[in-house]
Amino acid sequence: TLDEVRDALYTLLPDNPEFVRKHIIEPFYVSDDDYKKVYKSLAENLEAGLDDTKHHTATLKMWPSYVRDLPDGTETGTFLALDFGSHHLKAEVVSLDHGKYEVDSMNGFVPEKILLHGDGEKLFDYLANFLHRFLKRSGLLNTTDRLPLGFTFAFPCKRLAINKAILTRWTKNLHCDGVVGEDVVAMLQAAIERRGEMNIECVASVNDTVGTLMSGAQEDPKCAIGVILSKGVNACYMEQLEKVGTWTEKQSDLPNQVVIDTEWSEFGDDGCLDFFRNDYDKMIDENHHKGKAIFEKMISGQYLGEIVRLVLEKMNDSDVLFQDHWTKELGTRNRFYTKYVSEILSEEDIRFIHTRKVLEDLHVPLVVELECRVIHHICQIVSTRAATLVAIGIACLLDRINKSEAGIAVDGALYRFHPLFKDLLNAKIPQFLQTDKKFWLVQSADRSGKGAAMAAAVTERLHRKNDD
Ligand code: BGC
Repeated sequence: TLDEVRDALYTLLPDNPEFVRKHIIEPFYVSDDDYKKVYKSLAENLEAGLDDTKHHTATLKMWPSYVRDLPDGTETGTFLALDFGSHHLKAEVVSLDHGKYEVDSMNGFVPEKILLHGDGEKLFDYLANFLHRFLKRSGLLNTTDRLPLGFTFAFPCKRLAINKAILTRWTKNLHCDGVVGEDVVAMLQAAIERRGEMNIECVASVNDTVGTLMSGAQEDPKCAIGVILSKGVNACYMEQLEKVGTWTEKQSDLPNQVVIDTEWSEFGDDGCLDFFRNDYDKMIDENHHKGKAIFEKMISGQYLGEIVRLVLEKMNDSDVLFQDHWTKELGTRNRFYTKYVSEILSEEDIRFIHTRKVLEDLHVPLVVELECRVIHHICQIVSTRAATLVAIGIACLLDRINKSEAGIAVDGALYRFHPLFKDLLNAKIPQFLQTDKKFWLVQSADRSGKGAAMAAAVTERLHRKNDD
């Protein structure tokens, strides 16, 4: 438990109780009452984003995704999927046959120079080229039949239709000119045409949380919430249309519901979480899109390692740990990767084999056990706060949906590789739930790639039905 971790830190650092209290324990201590305040504030924010009179000033944009149904097992056909979420790329061809599916995929990587300094057209040309390579490999160039594509674009978009998504801003530290304010589906389609030889129509574009929900729901029809825990954090859920004040579409025969992309990474951007943010959080904020994505900065894989590193740096600066073991790497911003946090917390060996490896990777010349122990505890404290915040978010969504039980489709490297996250979520969600709900976490096997194809397939199914 956290109490044991705190006690252990005092015992390990007997000469510096004041430092431990002031710079490790207190900054990360959030009382149960404070966490309840967070729940209340998040619930209000979710509501405000859906309210057409408050939406324009609301922090959480709660974008309707235009996805109106989850897979029902009748989806059939061949669909392409392209998943772009930051550096990683994935293209897939998914063959669906009444609930059964086959996937062929190809992974790729977008170079930093395109993501951080390039212009939008170059980025989309890169994506189209990648698709071209994939189709060539799969023997799908120049097909006579049009290939429908589902595009997972893991950034906040104001959606105007299932195939029209306007990027509102870049997140996860990306900077790429000429895309904010533009329709990313049109940009992709134009790049596909420029490249030529591909008979593709981008029929659906989804956020990665929506892809995760679709993919989870295909495996477990009771999934109603999709969560991504990776470099970014976000969640979506199926909402009843009458609760979506911002919904302006005409009545139709489509189901009376829509998946909402909460974009909760931005929770706290109005200052409502300032009452427990600490100096480390503020330092992170200074260096990454200041004032934006406050919630994400306390949770995501982009920042958890850096929070741990800042605590270690403070210990070194105050001569509490490391003495002459401090290295240039330890002192380098963002160099303590979140994957280290996962590796360190996976430690079961009393000789601290994983932790030693991490420290060797950071060129620490002589690794001593005291350092290993202290770092382990710090990783635990930082991770527990992060998981608790996610648990509050999930509890809030579970309380919103009018179902007595629901599966939560979760994906992302932080969830997959962090050894404590899943258990922490399972333990903490019930502490915050205000209604009687049964829930379970579903790790979707292939989050958003298959999910985007499912979104395309469901869209085609609904429109076919509507046209009949
Ligand atoms: C983006 C979301 C995305 C999440 C997870 C956030 O930074 O704003 O749109 O779903 O990262 O990838």
